[in-house]
Amino acid sequence: LIQLSVPLNFIGFIYREIRQGLTDIEHMFDLLDVPQEIVDKPDAKPLKVGPGKVEFRDVHFSYDPNRKILKGVSFEVPAGKTVAIVGPSGAGKSTISRLLFRFYDVQGGQVLIDGQDIRDVTQESLRAVLGMVPQDTVLFNDTIAYNIRYGRFGASEEEVRKAAELAQIGPFIDKLPEGYRSMVGERGLKLSGGEKQRVAIARTILKAPPILMLDEATSALDSHTEQEIQAALDLVSKGRTTIVIAHRLSTVISADEIIVLKDGQIAERGTHAALLAKHGLYASMWDRQREATEAEERLRIARESD
Ligand code: ADP
Ligand code: MG
Repeated sequence: LIQLSVPLNFIGFIYREIRQGLTDIEHMFDLLDVPQEIVDKPDAKPLKVGPGKVEFRDVHFSYDPNRKILKGVSFEVPAGKTVAIVGPSGAGKSTISRLLFRFYDVQGGQVLIDGQDIRDVTQESLRAVLGMVPQDTVLFNDTIAYNIRYGRFGASEEEVRKAAELAQIGPFIDKLPEGYRSMVGERGLKLSGGEKQRVAIARTILKAPPILMLDEATSALDSHTEQEIQAALDLVSKGRTTIVIAHRLSTVISADEIIVLKDGQIAERGTHAALLAKHGLYASMWDRQREATEAEERLRIARESD
């Protein structure tokens, strides 16, 4: 009886893991609204992981043939460095992240990782080196522990806890009625945007990918939460090749290079200081953002002194 029940339990466990994994992947594709028609080349090889240099070389892309989205975009992210992408909404920033994950293939030019065209490698090996902290994290209808462990299913309970601590969400979880076993997602506890983002950061800390893609959230974060998230993001991107679709001034200021994307082309590029000195598009975006931040700050002080 014992001999029989152990393997059955084990099979049940594996079955659940696989089924959950498949559901999650399907779910992820649904939510990202991406096609699933990208297939590996018959001779696709695993990506040879090097230091983690990312290169977009004269990339052209459109979702539909009548409307070009990226019109010859070239940039390089040296291993371990951070490149920030800024620009008006609809400029094509998130499209760049979708192309790096190869949710779509480019129609002209190349996307390379450590010199390898990502169309020549297996998607599995490609996605294994990439980590993503999206703007809007999707939580699965499962425990918060499962949602964090999704970053690396083999992670121990201790590692899950450690990742949660580093992502500044540990104390929050400890206060939940059932701690790490609390159910979250649509059918469980609803977490705020900032909390969900920290879950995504914890996942990414567990995965520890050499290359990171961050899509920063703009709205609905109070300044305290924003500082906590910034600290967590700084920690996870340290020493990793990082592309960040940046809204926060702090990220932009410290990036090794800032790319200003407008209408699918790079309008300006350089460091924060160099771009400010140019008095162009970046400088005006930055002024506007700083004014907004200052106005918000004045409002807060006025409220507090009431
Ligand atoms: P950003 O992140 O800079 O705001 P995106 O890269 O998301 O911009 O989008 C660039 C343009 O591509 C937008 O005009 C958007 O409407 C369009 N777009 C995005 N996704 C799709 C899609 N799946 N199908 C068709 N057009 C899309
Ligand atoms: Mg976007």
